[in-house]
Amino acid sequence: MDHFLYRDGVLHAEDVPVAEIAAKVGTPFYCYSTATLLRHFRLFDEALAGMDHLVCYAMKAASNQAILKTLAQAGAGMDVVSGGEYARAIAAGVPGDKIVFSGVGKTHEEIRAALSTGIRQFNVESEPEMEVINEVALSLGKVAPITVRVNPDVDAKTHAKIATGKSENKFGIPIARAREVYARAAALPGLKVVGIDVHIGSQLTDLDPFRLAYRKVADLTETLRSDGHDIHRLDLGGGLGIPYTRSNEAPPLPVEYGAMIKEELGHLGCEIEIEPGRLIAGNAGIMVSKVIYVKSGEGRDFLILDGAMNDLLRPAMYEAHHDIVSVKEPAPGIEQQPYDIVGPVCETGDTFAKERMMAPLAPGDLVAFRSAGAYGAVMASEYNTRPLIPEVLVHEDQFAVIRERPTFDEMLKRDTIPEWL
Ligand SMILES: *Cc1c(COP(=O)(O)O)cnc(C)c1O
Repeated sequence: MDHFLYRDGVLHAEDVPVAEIAAKVGTPFYCYSTATLLRHFRLFDEALAGMDHLVCYAMKAASNQAILKTLAQAGAGMDVVSGGEYARAIAAGVPGDKIVFSGVGKTHEEIRAALSTGIRQFNVESEPEMEVINEVALSLGKVAPITVRVNPDVDAKTHAKIATGKSENKFGIPIARAREVYARAAALPGLKVVGIDVHIGSQLTDLDPFRLAYRKVADLTETLRSDGHDIHRLDLGGGLGIPYTRSNEAPPLPVEYGAMIKEELGHLGCEIEIEPGRLIAGNAGIMVSKVIYVKSGEGRDFLILDGAMNDLLRPAMYEAHHDIVSVKEPAPGIEQQPYDIVGPVCETGDTFAKERMMAPLAPGDLVAFRSAGAYGAVMASEYNTRPLIPEVLVHEDQFAVIRERPTFDEMLKRDTIPEWL
């Protein structure tokens, strides 16, 4: 459920007409709903009620500080995957002891920064990384809390680019080698083992792969405990999928996910962390764009929008589907027609949808891409020297620009011309 609904014939974000925002900030732009963000966070929080737990929002999904602050004020921790994300989380007021640091390539500098300011735990992804965290911790006179990310070799049954839990993926340590790696960790004085981490992929629409992975983690918990390790925290990753189409998708609900976690892991008495990103932000955001031209091609009509693949990469990158709706509600019973919906970038890949049935649209009309809140703004680029598009946050009847559109001047002055020119 989200808070982008038609009211009086126009799409609203909570209590604000989307067209009013467009008139103020121009198009294209991203628009997020506070109520939807909070609702999704609370669904997870409530799903784990009765277990000691922390929901660490995977902020790579949408990392604007206003979004982070909204969630942090509701009690969320953060899962970060770079020094930049760590800095954002701290700047948004998230305390270090609620930040977990994931990712396969943490650098010395990133590890040092996190240890200096404070970190809940590092999720270690390789043995060389474990040695470096130990060295950096010792050099600072600190002890780094760690989990080891194990790769359980399960098929997440999702898009190949976002499956992470098979043995051929670059993530984590093969679960079969975990005992060895934990023994090494225990021998390093700069590290304190606190638990186990697993994350098998994104946009999972079935609980079975999670269940298989968590069973393996439960077994491993017992084994490692019998080896003498203090395993008291299980980080179960993110990955629960969202419906990208209104009609025919019904991924499991957070409450079902939470019940499964209790069933598989409740008896271990561990603190549970989860790292949802997409399910918190995905349906809490839309991208709004304007029709520039309607172009008649051979046997098809193209809707040329002012938004493009550099603004919303998912269709080009993952063949992802986004529902696209007219901001003005189509009259009931109006005949739809097929459009190829494209952006202005000079690539055939800059196609959002083919033969999408829509009520007739004309230049100047606004459309909204639904489910664009996660992996939308954060993956945008300035390809074709197109400015990064603004982000807007709505809260009931108020809205605020939470990231401005840069001017061409601001963009151009980041280049510097060498002396010899
Ligand atoms: C991407 C990622 C997540 C979030 O995945 P979602 O599908 O957005 O929930 C969580 N943890 C790690 C380690 C990740 O890389």
